[in-house]
Parts: sequence; structure tokens; C-alpha cells
Amino acid sequence: MNQNKIGAFISERRKAKGWTQNQLAEKLGITDKAISKWETGRSMPDLALFIPLCGLLEITLNELFAGECIPDENIKEKADEVLMEVITNWLGNDKGKLKADEVTQKNVLEVQNISKIYETEGNSVLAVNDVSFQVAQGRFVGIMGASGSGKTTLLNLIATIDKPTNGIIRIGGQNIVDIAEEDTANFRREHLGFVFQEYNLLETLTIYENIALALTVKETPKESIGQIIQNISEKLDISAVLDKFPYEVSGGQRQRCACARAIAVKPDIILADEPTGALDSHSAKQLLSVFVMLCKEYNATILMVTHDVMAASYCDRILFMQDGEIKATLNREQKNKQTFFADILKRMEWIEGESHDVFEIVNS
Ligand code: ADP
Ligand code: MG
Repeated sequence: MNQNKIGAFISERRKAKGWTQNQLAEKLGITDKAISKWETGRSMPDLALFIPLCGLLEITLNELFAGECIPDENIKEKADEVLMEVITNWLGNDKGKLKADEVTQKNVLEVQNISKIYETEGNSVLAVNDVSFQVAQGRFVGIMGASGSGKTTLLNLIATIDKPTNGIIRIGGQNIVDIAEEDTANFRREHLGFVFQEYNLLETLTIYENIALALTVKETPKESIGQIIQNISEKLDISAVLDKFPYEVSGGQRQRCACARAIAVKPDIILADEPTGALDSHSAKQLLSVFVMLCKEYNATILMVTHDVMAASYCDRILFMQDGEIKATLNREQKNKQTFFADILKRMEWIEGESHDVFEIVNS
């Protein structure tokens, strides 16, 4: 990879747009110092910025890594190599593989033709449009999509926080759409685990009490609670903070505590909405490794909403949402994390390209 060449290319494309470094920085929500570092070859853009940067500069990912416009498909492979190099540098090497027993696992979650229409002041929004998919036990599935594409709505429907306008959702075989309003809180406690960005833990209870409370609600025998908490805390590296209050621990520890609480009660499925959203990249990677471990060792099933490619690259499968629909699905299969990361980036680029048809035609 030639960082200088890439930097010069970014600079050239920025100038062609008539933007100052400051203007480009503003569009990306970063400082102009960062832009200056890229353009002089001193650093590479953060992976999370690749897609928006390419979009703004009207170049493809491969062109960004090649450091030039690519008229010819032959250079594509070379650029793919460079992309893998960058990703490996950033994510580290990963040889991790999936378990092969997928076929024998039953579906924990079945979503059939669900739609959600929000009616507001004579205005109706089709937030989820005829979505269907299944998740087998032990899988870690990600939902990606731009802001407003319906990710949270979909997750809330599955979480029984909201009711679909149409369709069927089965969790552990039970159609949750039929559950009476007053029984939903019970259903959530019995069958679901939550790891959200905020509001995860009760602030007036210690970490230990937070986990114990969830177990008590699930009618776990008193004498086994201590042992369960000790085991899971060791696994998640939070033994040392059990007696602290949530506000006394770091964001990463809080999220791992939320994981401990979620898994301790053996839910049918763990739902996570942007769980890494407020974490630094080290804590984010730690949390994602915990998710992967829970699936592998506890046969947990996780559905995670994220707009972060790095987070998504830990999943087994990604559903891409756009305008309330699932536009594409990507399976990790036997690929390592780096290759999957590259696949996700390219798929996002493709989806964004699809939505800019008019624009593409004008340019060609
Ligand atoms: P995402 O999580 O992907 O950003 P959301 O599911 O939050 O997307 O939103 C999908 C669409 O539904 C958006 O257009 C949003 O404005 C709309 N929406 C979400 N919640 C409500 C609500 N409670 N009332 C009305 N519209 C809503
Ligand atoms: Mg959301």
C-alpha cells in the first residue's frame, strides 16, 4: 500500500470538488488536522470513514486503495490485496472459524413478512416493510443500514417493545405478536436479554446485584445464584468490579456486565442495539469478542444492530436494511474476519450505489 499515493489522490479529488480541507473535514465530522495527515501520507483514514469518504469524493473503495481512478477491471485485484492489508493491520489476524453444526440447530427467531407503519399527524411512515428472516440457535447476526433505515424499529418489534402492523414473529416457537400488552414485560424477562447503548443497568444496585436481580426474577434457586455470577464474571473479566456501582466502572465494563446479566438467565435470544456505539475501539473489540464467545461456548443467539463495519465483521451473517427492507444478506461462512470485513464494505458500497442510480448514469 502506498500511503503517499493514496493521500495525494484524496487531495486531488478534494480539490476537484472545490473543497478546502476544512470543508471536507466538516462533512465527515472530523478535524481538518486528520485530513491534512491523510493527504501528506502520514496516516490513513479510519476504517469507519472509508465509505463516507469514497461517497463524498465519488470514488470506489478500490480506487481509494489504488490511489487512482481505475478505468480497468484488472487493477481491481491489486486493490483488493491492499484493502486486505489495511484491514488486517487494523483488526489483527484472525483464523477463527465457525462451528459446522449449523444445520442441526433449530431456529430461535422466525420473522415472517412483518411490517410497521407509524401514523403521525396525518403522515404515515413505513418503517419496516415486509421483512422476513430466521436466526438459528448459536448464531450471531448483525443488522446494518443507514440511519433511518428501520433497524431500531425492527429490533423493538422483536423485543416486544412495539407491535408490528402485519406479520408474525416467533421466538422459541411462540408467536409474540399475540402476547397481551400486560404480559410483555414478563416475556422480556423470561426470554430476552438486552445489551443496549444506554439504560442497561440499574444505577442504584451494584453490578453483582444487577445480575442477581435478573436471576431472581427468573426464579433461579438462591443457593446457585452466587456460583452462576462467579462463573460468568470470570469469563467476562468483571470479577473485580462486582461490588461497584455502574457509574464507578468504565463503559466497556458496563457493557460486559450487561452481557453477564443477559446470558446468566439463559435467554432465547440476546438483542443488542448499537452496543459498541459509545465505546472506544479497544473496549468495542473486547465486547464483540465476548459476544462471539457467548455464541460459541454458551450456544447463545445474538441479534445486533450496528452501523459499524468493524462490529459487523464479528457476526456470522449480516442483514442490510434500506428504507425498511432487507436489501441484501451476507454470510461469513468459512471466511476470516478480515475477508468478511472487506465483503461488508463492498456490499455497503454496492447498496449505496444502487440508491444513487441517477447519479451513476449521469457520470458514465
Ligand atoms: P434506524 O434505527 O435504522 O436509524 P428507525 O427504526 O429508528 O431507524 O426509524 C425508521 C423510520 O421510522 C424513520 O423514518 C423514523 O423517522 C421512523 N420512526 C421511528 N420511530 C418512530 C415513531 N415512534 N413514530 C414515528 N416515526 C418513527
Ligand atoms: Mg437506531
